[in-house]
Amino acid sequence: MSQVLGPAAPLPLLQPPAAPAAVSHRDLRDDTFWQQLPGYRGLSAEEFHDYRFQSRNSVTSIAKLQEVLRDLVPASFYQDVSQGVLRSTMSLRISPYILSLIDWHDPVDDPLRLQFMPLASRGVPDHPELALDSLHEQAHSPVPGLTHRYADRALFLALDTCPVYCRFCTRSYAIGLDTPNVEKVHFGASTERWEQAFAYIASRPELEDIVVSGGDVYNLRPEQLEHIGKTLLEMDNIRRLRFATKGPAVLPQRLVGDDAWVGALLGVVERSRQLHKSVAVHTHFNHPREITAITRTGLDRLAEHGVVVRNQCVLQRGVNDQAETMQLLVKRLSYVNVQPYYVFVHDMVKGVEELRTTLQQAIDLEKQVRGTTAGFNTPAFVLDTMGGGGKRDVHSYEHYDREHGIAVFTSPTVRPGAYFYYFDPVHTLAPQIQQRWQDGAERAAVIHTALKEAESRPRP
Ligand SMILES: *Cc1c(COP(=O)(O)O)cnc(C)c1O
Ligand code: SF4
Repeated sequence: MSQVLGPAAPLPLLQPPAAPAAVSHRDLRDDTFWQQLPGYRGLSAEEFHDYRFQSRNSVTSIAKLQEVLRDLVPASFYQDVSQGVLRSTMSLRISPYILSLIDWHDPVDDPLRLQFMPLASRGVPDHPELALDSLHEQAHSPVPGLTHRYADRALFLALDTCPVYCRFCTRSYAIGLDTPNVEKVHFGASTERWEQAFAYIASRPELEDIVVSGGDVYNLRPEQLEHIGKTLLEMDNIRRLRFATKGPAVLPQRLVGDDAWVGALLGVVERSRQLHKSVAVHTHFNHPREITAITRTGLDRLAEHGVVVRNQCVLQRGVNDQAETMQLLVKRLSYVNVQPYYVFVHDMVKGVEELRTTLQQAIDLEKQVRGTTAGFNTPAFVLDTMGGGGKRDVHSYEHYDREHGIAVFTSPTVRPGAYFYYFDPVHTLAPQIQQRWQDGAERAAVIHTALKEAESRPRP
């Protein structure tokens, strides 16, 4: 039943008490969920939530997957995963924690399975305009592993490993082990390379803000984390640091139990306070189910010391593209003191076309999310443009042809005068349009038309 309210109509008041569903974001899972997996059946909470157990038992091969799941899934599932891994740009690596949170009664459509475990049977051909390193990070790198795209901030890739490997990683050109498809550019945790990056950062007075990423700073040794953090903070020009890690989402046990690593982080944060500068942790939760009671325990440790934690989420079809899921994620993150910062439209990444949504879906979802909770906990929906134009608000396109699935953006602060494209997944378009994308000349014509439309728009 819908009703149009005129300007003078009184608004209905909220009716307390709220239904239990309205506060379901507070229901954090606290059961022995891992015991549904044959390989973890005998483990107590203490054993399973030991961070050393979690890192040592990460599943990195089909053989290990079989040891844990045994007959929980049919042989055909294992075959599907092995075929998927062969075609993937990322190596397989899943923590026991994430593996146990997958619903093994329906792994094919499970939002966590989708992110970490490829199934060949679910693959969709890549968009014809797609390339490795679509964001051109390497082209904007004055020093290997340092991308300086925006004037006042830079992205420093300190290392090239992570506690898990996400199928959809934008940095598949560098992160993780080589795969049959990709021989990677490696950015190992090397002091020599770091020194070059530090020298560059110190030599650029306009730089104030460094994103220390990778890879994942969870995989730095405590003394390495401390060395990077303190070296950067001591530079006069540097005011802000962010440490990027997926750790809290996939291996929260480390925040609970690894005193040396957490201690190093807190040491850097403390130093930033003495210097009147700021350090934040940027993490990467994509689905509300990734947040359980142990996550909260881990994050509480950071909250106790006033550490600011923000979230950068990747919008994925079947994972978090439904309004209820994204609303729940935003509320649950806020509840555990993580500030939802960005929702990224899925980059054009090889081998994961089935995970991308259209730009329009991102715009629609933003409308559903804003208003769910406080404005400071409401994520910005952004798109990182192909070709290195940087992040743009999803609504700020110059031109968007939904029929052909092509959007054109400008980026006045990064590359004035240049145009950047985003392409909706071809499989979401009408059959005759899909045909056009498969033909080189037709494709060029579609892109040319979109560019002309964008150029004809009056601009300030
Ligand atoms: C995302 C990003 C940053 C940080 O940008 P914010 O919008 O401030 O989060 C810096 N450098 C590069 C290359 C980036 O991709
Ligand atoms: S944790 Fe981040 S860098 Fe590592 S694989 Fe996932 S998306 Fe890529």
